[in-house]
Formats: sequence, structure tokens, C-alpha cells
Amino acid sequence: MIPNEVQAALVALGYSVAVDGEIGPKSKAAIKDFQGRHSLKVDGKAGPLTIAALHEALVVAKPMPTIPAAGDIVPAHWMPPGRLERIICHWTAGAHRASDTDRSHYHILIEGGGGLVRGDSPISANGIGGTGQRASHTLNCNTGSIGVSLCCMAGAKEQPFGPGKAPMTAVQWERLVRVVADLCRRYEIPVTPKTVLSHAEVQGTLGIKQRGKWDVSRLAFDPSVKGAKACGDLLRAGVTALI
Ligand SMILES: [Zn+2]
Repeated sequence: MIPNEVQAALVALGYSVAVDGEIGPKSKAAIKDFQGRHSLKVDGKAGPLTIAALHEALVVAKPMPTIPAAGDIVPAHWMPPGRLERIICHWTAGAHRASDTDRSHYHILIEGGGGLVRGDSPISANGIGGTGQRASHTLNCNTGSIGVSLCCMAGAKEQPFGPGKAPMTAVQWERLVRVVADLCRRYEIPVTPKTVLSHAEVQGTLGIKQRGKWDVSRLAFDPSVKGAKACGDLLRAGVTALI
């Protein structure tokens, strides 16, 4: 850090000093004050330890990006009253953007960059005793089931694994955890393997036959997680931590 940068850092941290490259009495006083607050030797000199502490303080002082508070990302009006008992998570096997077909099949879509898109059917239509056009996302298991899908994995191959042209992103997964947490809270759905699961787990866990569905049994951004159960367990652990 040259003197200018030290002064600019001090200004960013709220000190009133001139950024002129000359460490005069005001800058020295500011450095001393900063050192005192950070358990450093108070000598008014921007040595390596002080500079490291300035860098650290700047990172902390940076305004947080405008991500809504954890577990608060699904708009309330997307979650009308209904009797829903489980959440089934999918990928669309399409591109990173939600298509018309995607919107017709799922209640909530999460695009490659993490943006949420509402499906055509209200969640309430899939509720027990619900009316209206249902979203059909899981063979013989749509009643009482909310369908959330990540827009990704077009052209992906299960064996040997290849994520295709639109691999699932870490942001999508992080958003999925939050969306599911919101839904669990709203519809009072407990986080268990039978109530929060991926499409790939439906046949094994609920005993409802599906046609070779493997969404979600791989995470393109983390090849160490393999298999439907491993992915499902990770999802449930994340959701549990939020609620
Ligand atoms: Zn699916």
C-alpha cells in the first residue's frame, strides 16, 4: 500500500483525512486510532501488520450485495394457501433460462444466474383438494407436491457423467436451499427424506415408479457429491440449517 492507498482505506473506514499521499499529523492520528482499535502497536506508521488489518477491515466494511435475508426469497404471493405435503426438486434438462415448457411443468424455476421464475400453475392447484391447472412434474406424484426446478443440464449424460452445455451452478443450488426453506416454512412441511426430496429419490424413497429420472443425483459444480441420496441429504441439511 502506498500512502495514497492507506489514506483512501482510512477514508473508506470513516476517517476524515486527505488523500494526498502525504502522511501528515491528521493521517498519523487516524492510523494511530485504527491501530488502537485493532490491537496493533500504536506508532502511526502503516507497517505490514497495520496494512493487513486495513485490508481486512475494508473487506468487512464493504456493503453486502443485495441478497435477501436467508430463507426469504420467494415472494409471498407465489405461495397461496393450500395443503402441500412435499417438495420435489428437479432440473429441467434444458438451458440456463426458463422456457415456456419449463414454466408449464414446475411451480418455481431457478435460472443459471440464480434468478427465480414463477411457473404458470399456482402451488395451491397441486394441493390436496386444490383446483385449477396443476403443474405436472413427477409421474403419479403431483398431488400435494410442489415442483421446484433448476434450469440446467441440457444434454447432460449420466454415465459417464457429463454436465452438458448448461451445467448446474453453485448459485442455483444455494438458491434452491433457500427456496425450499421458504416453502417448508410457509406450508409447514417437515424436512425429511419423504417430504423434501429430489425427483431422483422419488422411486426409491416413495416407491412410485419413475422413468429413469436422475435429477438430482450429481452436482456439476462439486463432482465429489455423487448419487441421489448424497445430493438429497446435502439439500436437506442446508434447508434444516436455515429453518
Ligand atoms: Zn424431474
